[in-house]
Amino acid sequence: MPIKYSCCREGEWLEDYNNWYDLAQLYFCTKCQRIKCWRCTQPVIKVKFCSRCSQITTGNNCPKHCFNCPKCNGALKITSSTEKDGKSFMFNCQCGYSFDTGTIHQPQPLSRIIRNLNKNTPYYQLKAFYEGKGSLPKQNEDGDPSWGTNKLPILARVRSKNDVYCRVCKSWLIVHRADVSSTAKFNSTAQDYVPEVYLDRSQDKFLLHFINNSKELMDVKITYSPGTEYHFPNTKFKLGATTEKLVGQTKDSTAEVKTQSLNEDQGNLRVQVSTTPPEVSLNHVIIPIETQLQEFSIPIHVQISGQLSFGFSCMNIPEV
Ligand SMILES: [Zn+2]
Ligand SMILES: [Zn+2]
Ligand SMILES: [Zn+2]
Ligand SMILES: [Zn+2]
Repeated sequence: MPIKYSCCREGEWLEDYNNWYDLAQLYFCTKCQRIKCWRCTQPVIKVKFCSRCSQITTGNNCPKHCFNCPKCNGALKITSSTEKDGKSFMFNCQCGYSFDTGTIHQPQPLSRIIRNLNKNTPYYQLKAFYEGKGSLPKQNEDGDPSWGTNKLPILARVRSKNDVYCRVCKSWLIVHRADVSSTAKFNSTAQDYVPEVYLDRSQDKFLLHFINNSKELMDVKITYSPGTEYHFPNTKFKLGATTEKLVGQTKDSTAEVKTQSLNEDQGNLRVQVSTTPPEVSLNHVIIPIETQLQEFSIPIHVQISGQLSFGFSCMNIPEV
């Protein structure tokens, strides 16, 4: 059962499940020492590019005039022919789709030509009718008004890569390179700092897993509201640094144990946990939950101390 994390607010705000996020959706600001959600961060467009040909653009259309096929979404091949009073453009796709613009008298960008043709389709006529700007589309020979069938070439979308900064301290949380293909050169995601928490049910027992994917050892303290129908016998523990670092440093069997898949049988995992020398903290700790309940939602607050000190709230969101 995955656990969701809250960002910054408290009180009633947290009763809305939309304000809880997957860890992968969150950033971490090392200066503020806090989890940051999209509300706490500001994106800035670093580079815009065509989703079809990856050509970088400053405008809203591909500079190479890429269009997608409305039937199969493939790339359309465009040819033009000069006529005595203008020019016409032909779009062709491997799937057999083709479209002819007819004679265009005024020189203009292809994107504008298609947009203007688009205004004559039944969908736009219907939209215009409901906006009080036009009449209903005429029916075709079969008496079928063919609402919304839009068989015009589709302009390839322009995508962007955004850098992201913290709204509070203005530190950069994501910085991309100024090209299209590469991944971010700096990326401060919550997954790199905040333990991954998940709830597991094994033979009528509930177990809370904590996995540290950061490079630092951390002391963990769990708090939860008193008088609840569940109880954590163990609320303070150490969470070792991620195994990636340890695997490089040691070649003994303990490092092997720590890299095992999370899907392994729980009993198996616990045996291996207990055979690990106590001076080595595992980056994966399993905390039992004592309860008679069969289904519940546990909001807990987790305080981390170590190289970084921060707190966060997390809970399992009931499935709707
Ligand atoms: Zn936030
Ligand atoms: Zn393109
Ligand atoms: Zn096609
Ligand atoms: Zn910050």
